[in-house]
Amino acid sequence: MRILLVEDEPTLRAQLRAGLQDAGYVVDEADNGRDAQHLGETESFDAAVLDLGLPVLDGLSVLKRWREAGITMPVLILTARDSWHEKVAGIDAGADDYLAKPFHMEELLARLRALIRRAQGLASPLLRCGALALDTRSGRVTLDGQPINLTSHEYRLLSYLMHRPGSVVSRTELTEHLYAQDFDRDSNTIEVFIGRLRKKLPAETIETVRGMGYRLVAPP
Ligand code: CA
Repeated sequence: MRILLVEDEPTLRAQLRAGLQDAGYVVDEADNGRDAQHLGETESFDAAVLDLGLPVLDGLSVLKRWREAGITMPVLILTARDSWHEKVAGIDAGADDYLAKPFHMEELLARLRALIRRAQGLASPLLRCGALALDTRSGRVTLDGQPINLTSHEYRLLSYLMHRPGSVVSRTELTEHLYAQDFDRDSNTIEVFIGRLRKKLPAETIETVRGMGYRLVAPP
C-alpha cells in the first residue's frame, strides 16, 4: 500500500515517514501544497495523510482540488489541536477522517488501516479469503490457522490482493501501489514476488488472468 504524506514540518514528517514505513507502507512525501496537489493528481496512492497548514497552497485547497479533479483516495487530515472548525471544513471539503495534533502514531495507523479497507468495502481488519487470513493490525498471515512467514515485499503484495478479493489486479497497478515514485520500477519484479508467494500459498490461490493481471481466489 502506498501513502502520500504531506507535512511541512521536517521533524514530524520524518517521524511519520518512519512510522508508516515500519508499518509496511510505501511512502511518497510532499512538504508544500503545490507538490502535494501534483503528486496526488499524477500518481496512484491508497491513502493520503494531509496536514492542513502548508506553505504555497493550504491543505484544504489541495483537498478541494483533488476532489474537483475526481480523485477519490481516502484522505486523513491533520488539524491543529482544538480547532473544531478546521475539522468541519476538512470533512466538508472531502476528508474521510481527521486527527488533531499531537497524536499517537498507533492511532494514525489504525485510522489509515480503516480508511484503506473501507475504500474497498471491507469492514473487518481481519481479511479472509477462504482458509487464508491476513490480520491488517498485526501483519500476520495464516492458512487454516497456521502461520505463513512472508517477507515484507511478499506481505505487501498479498495484502494488496487480499484487499481486492476476486478482482483482477494488473501488474501496472501492483507496481504503482507497491513502490514509491523514486524507486526503479520494473514490472518483472512483481512476477518474481508473485512466484515466491505462490510457493508459500496453496496452488491456484493467485490466478493469472491472461493479458490482464492476477486474481486472488479462495484456496480450497
Ligand atoms: Ca503544517
